[in-house]
Amino acid sequence: MIRQAKGKTPRRHPPKKTSNNQKDPVGVYCRVRPLGADDDECCIEVISNTTIQLHAPDGLKANRNGEFKETQYSFKKVFGIKTTQRELFEDVAKPLVEDLIHCKNGLLFTYGVTGSGKTHTMTGSPGQGGLLPRSLDMIFNSIGPYQAKRYVFKPDDKNGMEVQNQVDALLDRQKRDSQSTVPKTPTTRRIDPEFADMISPEDACRADGVDEDSSYSVFVSYIEIYNNYIYDLLEETPFDPIKPKPPQSKILREDQNHNMYVAGCTEVEVKSTEEAFEVFWRGQKKRRIANTQLNRESSRSHSVFIVKLAQAPLDADGDNVLQDKNQVNVSQLCLVDLAGSERTSRTRAEGSRLREAGNINQSLMTLRTCIEVLRENQMCGTNKMVPYRDSKVTHLFKNYFDGEGKVRMVVCVNPKADDYEETLLVMRFAEMTQEVEVARPVDRPICGFTAGRRQKNQAFKDELTRRLEERGGPVDGEFPTVLNQLLQSFPPLPPCEVSGPNDDVTLPRLIEALEKRHRVRQMMIEEYNKTADMLKSVLQEQDGNILSKENFIHEQRGKLGEKDKMIQNQKNEIDRLEKKSKMLEYKIDILQKTTNIYEEDKRSLQHELESREQRLQREMSEKRRMESRMQGIVTDAKLKWEKECERRVNAKQLEMQNKLWVKDEKLKQLKAIVTEGKTENRQPQRPSREKDKAPPKRSASPSPVPTAPPVRPLHRRSHSAGGERWVDHKPTSNVDLDTVLQPNIPNAIKVNAPNEKALSKCDKYVLTHQEVASDGEIQTKLIKGEVFKTRGGGQAVQFTDIETLRQENPVVASRKRRSSESGPDGGPMEGDWTDVETRCSVAVEMRAGSNLGPGYQHHGYTKRRKP
Ligand code: ADP
Ligand code: MG
Repeated sequence: MIRQAKGKTPRRHPPKKTSNNQKDPVGVYCRVRPLGADDDECCIEVISNTTIQLHAPDGLKANRNGEFKETQYSFKKVFGIKTTQRELFEDVAKPLVEDLIHCKNGLLFTYGVTGSGKTHTMTGSPGQGGLLPRSLDMIFNSIGPYQAKRYVFKPDDKNGMEVQNQVDALLDRQKRDSQSTVPKTPTTRRIDPEFADMISPEDACRADGVDEDSSYSVFVSYIEIYNNYIYDLLEETPFDPIKPKPPQSKILREDQNHNMYVAGCTEVEVKSTEEAFEVFWRGQKKRRIANTQLNRESSRSHSVFIVKLAQAPLDADGDNVLQDKNQVNVSQLCLVDLAGSERTSRTRAEGSRLREAGNINQSLMTLRTCIEVLRENQMCGTNKMVPYRDSKVTHLFKNYFDGEGKVRMVVCVNPKADDYEETLLVMRFAEMTQEVEVARPVDRPICGFTAGRRQKNQAFKDELTRRLEERGGPVDGEFPTVLNQLLQSFPPLPPCEVSGPNDDVTLPRLIEALEKRHRVRQMMIEEYNKTADMLKSVLQEQDGNILSKENFIHEQRGKLGEKDKMIQNQKNEIDRLEKKSKMLEYKIDILQKTTNIYEEDKRSLQHELESREQRLQREMSEKRRMESRMQGIVTDAKLKWEKECERRVNAKQLEMQNKLWVKDEKLKQLKAIVTEGKTENRQPQRPSREKDKAPPKRSASPSPVPTAPPVRPLHRRSHSAGGERWVDHKPTSNVDLDTVLQPNIPNAIKVNAPNEKALSKCDKYVLTHQEVASDGEIQTKLIKGEVFKTRGGGQAVQFTDIETLRQENPVVASRKRRSSESGPDGGPMEGDWTDVETRCSVAVEMRAGSNLGPGYQHHGYTKRRKP
């Protein structure tokens, strides 16, 4: 449909090229409304007049695993809960109204979830008028005295504006007055109470620099976009109570300047704030009725209030509006209250409403997409198609984004926790929108007429009226005084009473006097002309001077304006860069923190790695140490056992030799018996001490054969040598017990390690052995034995007796005994006995050069403890 319309529309001009390439970012403001009475958790904090911080509500924090922390968002300005409607207007809408008056377009919209205060911000309520009523008020305060008469400006059907001639305008006015349905002068009417007191008189403000030599007219339109259909809220439809006609939707068209407009939309000319309110209110009522009748939800529709300002220069006289369509300038301010930005319907969305909700989401989604593509195109230099046409709202706003104008958005937020997630999306959209730039509107050229026409004309008219009033109008037949004075300056006329037809005196005198007067008059005329010429040339010169001065001033003003613009541009750029740098700083900060955390991690990991390496090293060296020790132990044991084996082999060898010797002896004796027969006096030869000392070799046995063979290889030492001689073996490790009962053996050889020499001299051996008994007392054992000479030439001790000496503490004696008898402590005692018994049956053989046997070592030396 739109494409068709476009095809039909004659394109008279090439696409409008914006003559400047200066751009401004979309001004995004944030307004935080106060928490409602029922809401207790607040998730928004205003931290400066440009930044807010969002905190995830408690429940969410837990859910999202701390993913959402505090996030900050910056805006051109943030308005906290205490901001008044007036303050907001001053910052946000006032510049747009000023632009409107200076022929520049503006778009202002409110964005946010339902209940965040969009309507409050845009429309407001009695006593708290919003941006819309305040803008209207400012417009009329500014252009009030310079408004054209009604119907002088007349909208054509193609978004343009014509200037009607005086007569047509008058006729239209008369027609309007005669129509009873249209309210007459609305200023005298009582305003709807709901719209009264929107703005208090002290809040009134006006724009500067209103061109007084122009004539103005304000037109308003009010549309609603619901479910992607456009409805005209100001359309006058005859109301049919029986069968109410459903509202007809409108279509969008493009005008010759490629501006989008709602075709056939009602544009109402309004002459005062009150009248404009009245019209707005009429639209509101219609909207409300339609919503109720069609069961629609108002939060799902976008409402667009368009204020159009037509202005045209006065003609050269400063009397009437110049009748030249090309000189008419039309600027417009769009005030948009967007639908709630929430993703799902706040109320239960079912059936058709669900579909509507989907569509509304779609239109806001398209808005978001358009903004996104625009931003991408601008930032990356791409040329992607912006999908304006996907929804009516964006299509209608197209000109603002790809043409020129000032775009501002007030993001409304409700700090309550329920809205948190939606608010987060709103913030992201706002952040993105701020990065979109819109071409700055250029100043309109000034018309060729001299400035101040209205004033001059007015001053002239005023003066004329004053004089006329003063004089009561000119009287016929009366000469002006100036003329009288002039006449009096002429030479007086002589008496002109003619005495007769031949009066030769009077007539010539009169003729002479009149001629004289004629001459004077001639002279005066000449003089006058000369002076007039002179004056004229002086005036012309002055005019020229003034004109050139004016031109100069104009030029300078233009330059000044340009410079101002440049400064403003630079300022904006600086602002933008500052904001960007702030944002980047914030990001850097976060990255720095992250880096620190990682570095900390790295350090601790390195530390751990080092400690582990050290431990590994330690364990390795420990292992090596153990290995070498094990090796040492193994070689020790090997050596020991080798020696032991050798010893045992030797002992066995000896024993076998002995046995062999005994057998040899027996054999010899047998042989002797066999060969010599009876030899009765023979005595068995016992090996003498000397013989024992030097063991006989097997081959060398020529000694006389003994009569009887020795019964055992161990021989008791003879006692006949005058009493027993003892080897008293007391190991050095023994402790002196200071007791009365001490073993004392007279005539003993005292040794602390048994040696062969001592043993060879004695025939008794006693070992004083100390050990700790189970009760902790030291007990001394005297292990006694007899010394024998062995055939191998050494000495052997056979243990025969053990004497135990113990000290007992009488106090604990009984207890001790009991415990030693019945308790497990008795074990070692028995073990000792067993040990000694076994040992008693073991003969320890000492041989020259031999090592002490393990059994002997056990008694003679303190045990070597294993490490
Ligand atoms: P929206 O249009 O975004 O759905 P409204 O403007 O209807 O939200 O606001 C919902 C309610 O909150 C209204 O009762 C309104 O008066 C109140 N409200 C909104 N913003 C403010 C504010 N800044 N100060 C006080 N009340 C507010
Ligand atoms: Mg609303």
